[in-house]
Amino acid sequence: MLSNSTRDVRDTSSHPFRVPEPPAPDSLPLINASAEVAVWLEHYWDKLRLPASEALRLAVTDDRRDFHRWTGRRLNPLALGCYCYLPTLRSSDGSSSATLTAPTTGTSRRQLTLPGFCENPANSIDETAGRAVRGLETALADPGYRHLIFVDPELLPLGIEVTVAHELIHLSDRVQGNPRKHRCHGYDSISVDEAAITGHDPEVLRALLREETARREATLRNARPYRYIYACPQCGKEYPRVRRYSRPVSCGHCDRAYNAAFLLKLREAVPQS
Ligand SMILES: [Zn+2]
Ligand SMILES: [Zn+2]
Repeated sequence: MLSNSTRDVRDTSSHPFRVPEPPAPDSLPLINASAEVAVWLEHYWDKLRLPASEALRLAVTDDRRDFHRWTGRRLNPLALGCYCYLPTLRSSDGSSSATLTAPTTGTSRRQLTLPGFCENPANSIDETAGRAVRGLETALADPGYRHLIFVDPELLPLGIEVTVAHELIHLSDRVQGNPRKHRCHGYDSISVDEAAITGHDPEVLRALLREETARREATLRNARPYRYIYACPQCGKEYPRVRRYSRPVSCGHCDRAYNAAFLLKLREAVPQS
């Protein structure tokens, strides 16, 4: 939902990259989240008129470790939600056919199959041939990409709805070949769409975003109190940190790119109580 809204420090060292391990094609769609998340996914999937075939590329989780493993990137701790489009095909073949890979149903308690996602193109094929080809496809083919979504597990009920809608707008943009970046969370064209699709007043949604962010911050602070306060020598903006920076970091307020002229300085270390 706001994967960058509260992060204005350019510091890739805190987001180490690892090899993505997305869920296997035959486990999709995968919903590792609450029933509320599943209900809103189905609701806004329909409302945004997303193709059923795209659900065979969809995996959703409320577990940050899942998302880290799937995408290879650690989430911003403040993120309330996140959408990641992950290309997965390594061959130049490009002829992958997800249409024959049927979604599995009910293999575990938390792996829900969305009721709206039951269109199975393999049904239209001769069953025997379909079964043989499907085995081959499962072994050889990959849908070529994944739609990966994270939804924070501690969101308020309205926050769950709006976050699901928000991440599906990103997914819809991607499906239409027009991914948008945020200019400013709560005030850009994506938030206009978000208000339109959910039918909620934009000001209510901005207040919700502030409230959810504050709650997330409080949760984090209880778990990991700040111990270091860095400051920009130019503008004075403070950057409280749980750990020391492992490398020089510059002020994102003064320059969105790394700029050695605005290196942050450690102002104080807060004693642990
Ligand atoms: Zn977003
Ligand atoms: Zn600054």
